[in-house]
Amino acid sequence: MTNEIRVIGVIGAGTMGNGIAHVCARSGYDVLLCEVEQRFLDRGLETVRKNLEREAAKGKITADAAKAALARITGVLDRERLAECDFVVEAATEKFEIKKSIFADLDRITRNDVILASNTSSISITKLANVTSRPDRVIGMHFFNPVPVMKLVEVIRGMATSQATYEQVHDLAQKLGKTPVEVNDAPGFVSNRVLMPLLNEAMYAVMEGVATPEAVDEVFKLGMAHPMGPLTLVDFIGLDVCLDIMRVLQEGFGDPKYRPCPLLVRMVDAGWLGRKSGRGFYRY
Ligand code: NAD
Repeated sequence: MTNEIRVIGVIGAGTMGNGIAHVCARSGYDVLLCEVEQRFLDRGLETVRKNLEREAAKGKITADAAKAALARITGVLDRERLAECDFVVEAATEKFEIKKSIFADLDRITRNDVILASNTSSISITKLANVTSRPDRVIGMHFFNPVPVMKLVEVIRGMATSQATYEQVHDLAQKLGKTPVEVNDAPGFVSNRVLMPLLNEAMYAVMEGVATPEAVDEVFKLGMAHPMGPLTLVDFIGLDVCLDIMRVLQEGFGDPKYRPCPLLVRMVDAGWLGRKSGRGFYRY
């Protein structure tokens, strides 16, 4: 059973949620952006406004289209308002307990034909689906940061996700101007399962004195044509986030090859989390 999507609910107005709201509104959908506190909502909406204005200034969209997109986003604090939604993407904090309570609420609040998608980077879609009475209509829709710019959406099928759900999400991703790639539910999906061990190994190279962070980054930029080196990328993502994902891989696979680099653990203990804390492998 599929429904026509007109109103999209986005849970969380942080880094990813405001970007998802941005691309949905830009593609003509009405958006209900749901947060827990007014200040987070204000901050998210302000970010969308600035980013849409930047796109207009660069000539990517017209000034009128930017204005219209912003007007299509309504901020809400009351989750019950999501009853109007035809589709919901959850992009709240990466904690299972938080997402579990959100999915249980969404299952109660939304019509039962509505697909519930999660933008989680590492939590099992199958486990989230099992919190609801509609596991066939729960799916992963993994956007990349910055959402308005990055083309990829990893579409993750949980154990019970139906073909109709998969097809509707694939279609929606394309309508948002993205390229969907199909992936099955497994720790780290494809993106983080492959990327994080690379970043972790780059940290081992630094820890063992094989090369400086600058040298490791140069190798990847000049030798592999990566737009940024792995240690610059670690600082950008956040060392705490990298550590959490390595732990998900380690626990999920039980394979020692996913053990977090001890230097990463020490730096997180020191509060050196990368760009956001002013210091990581580089100083900001
Ligand atoms: P963030 O911390 O910037 O934003 C999360 C927001 O969720 C916060 O504003 C918080 O107030 C809000 N929130 C928490 N509980 C809520 C609730 N019950 N209802 C409504 N809002 C709630 O985090 P983020 O980086 O945007 O990450 C969000 C999700 O996207 C996570 O699952 C993360 O793993 C995933 N993700 C992040 C990235 C990235 O590069 N940052 C990339 C892909 C996926």
